[in-house]
Amino acid sequence: MSESFDCVIIGGGPAGSTCATVLADHGRRVLVVERAPYPRFHIGESLMPETYWVFRRIGMLDKLKNSPFVRKYSVQFVAPTGKESAPFYFDERNPHECSVTWQVLRSEFDRMMLDNAAEHGAVTWQPANVADVLLEPSPRHGLPRATGVVVEREDGRRVEVRAPVVVDATGMNAMLSRRLGIRLPDPKLRKAAVFAHYRGAYRDPNPRDEGATLILSVQGQRGWLWYIPLPDDVVSVGVVGDLEYLIDGRGEPEQTLDEEIVRCPFIVPRLAHATRVSPVHVLSDFSYNAKVCAGDGWVLIGDAFTFLDPMYSSGVLLALRSGEAAADAIHAALHVGDTSAAALGAWGERFYDGVQAIRKMVYAFYTPGFSFSKFVRAHPDCKDKVTEILIGDVFRPEVHDVFGPMGRYFQVPESIRLESPAPSAARQVDARTCDERQGE
Ligand SMILES: Cc1cc2nc3c(=O)[nH]c(=O)nc-3n(C[C@H](O)[C@H](O)[C@H](O)COP(=O)(O)OP(=O)(O)OC[C@H]3O[C@@H](n4cnc5c(N)ncnc54)[C@H](O)[C@@H]3O)c2cc1C
Repeated sequence: MSESFDCVIIGGGPAGSTCATVLADHGRRVLVVERAPYPRFHIGESLMPETYWVFRRIGMLDKLKNSPFVRKYSVQFVAPTGKESAPFYFDERNPHECSVTWQVLRSEFDRMMLDNAAEHGAVTWQPANVADVLLEPSPRHGLPRATGVVVEREDGRRVEVRAPVVVDATGMNAMLSRRLGIRLPDPKLRKAAVFAHYRGAYRDPNPRDEGATLILSVQGQRGWLWYIPLPDDVVSVGVVGDLEYLIDGRGEPEQTLDEEIVRCPFIVPRLAHATRVSPVHVLSDFSYNAKVCAGDGWVLIGDAFTFLDPMYSSGVLLALRSGEAAADAIHAALHVGDTSAAALGAWGERFYDGVQAIRKMVYAFYTPGFSFSKFVRAHPDCKDKVTEILIGDVFRPEVHDVFGPMGRYFQVPESIRLESPAPSAARQVDARTCDERQGE
């Protein structure tokens, strides 16, 4: 059996659903294949305010406003001593509704996003597994061209789906970048996370603070904890630390999480009357990027392209923004009949420059002795710039300005650049035309 679409998207998480919705809005025939039946548990619950603009474009804002998800106005850091930073209230920089975001239950949120894609006209197959991506040698690019996928449907049928563009939105499975050997781990961010949901934990009575994300350093600075209030009196608590420290030679994950919570005196009373209501989950070695964001006939978005440490809750924002940008590039590429790596990846450089701003902030946080509170006290003129990155407003070159002053306190890493693909046929024609004009 065989079918054909303009684009097939592997994975119906936030990246895949966003990409599908935008493509459907462009009038493209798009298929999303999601292997998990929803609802299903997923980590990634705290959103960044800049998700607002993508939600507005894809018609999700009203759905979120009417949802039970908890409003998030700020993020606050707590030192190992228990000393709290002043909250970074997002609306202090911009008193607009875009400065308030949500703490979401991903089982519900991901379902809403995929339903939304279907409402906009995307075809969804779920549960259905993409078993293979059809690849053939590409004359123009060192990496192969994708021409479609093989799907295993729920009833056991194997269906070949042909499409000029295949989007990998498989999250950390990173199906294509692993298969093509283009996935690069970040050696300085070899971390693990151990996390669970609790019911009955302390919640701030002030509605403006109830939904704050707390980022708490644990004593000895071997890791940090997140505290994210969710609907239904549930709080998500997790610890992140060096992989060797959190995993090697430790007991069961339940024990590790309990031990790390005890190392954080600020949080102990908050959880005193709480009950754990989920299994304890473990994830490790999650900071990496693919060398490129596109090849001939394929595109990588969301975690399938890159993931950074969860420190600033940037994952869903990056999934949404890459899904949106990739969809616009795919639509333009299909329009001119050029599905080369250069055309499909036209969005990558700017996007990845924004990822680098968040990566530099991650390095700052992990530098022993560095503190955002101290930095902002010493450089009050930089407070807005720090907040800009914390809300996710990172896709502008100026956001990197803050790393000048910050560089006095820690070794700011060089930005990683994507490998540039071979120029597309369309661009070569443009360049020739331009040269010819200059010669006139
Ligand atoms: C410890 C930790 C904490 C985090 N906390 C936050 C946070 O607070 N805020 C935040 O914004 N982000 C957070 N993240 C990151 C966030 O979880 C991800 O960035 C986000 O889910 C990426 O979305 P995605 O659509 O790219 O991938 P996913 O959400 O993982 O979706 C991928 C989908 O692809 C499907 N799939 C995979 N393979 C196949 C296949 N072969 N066929 C069909 N379907 C397939 C999967 O079933 C899945 O549904 C955290 C990450 C970690 C590790």
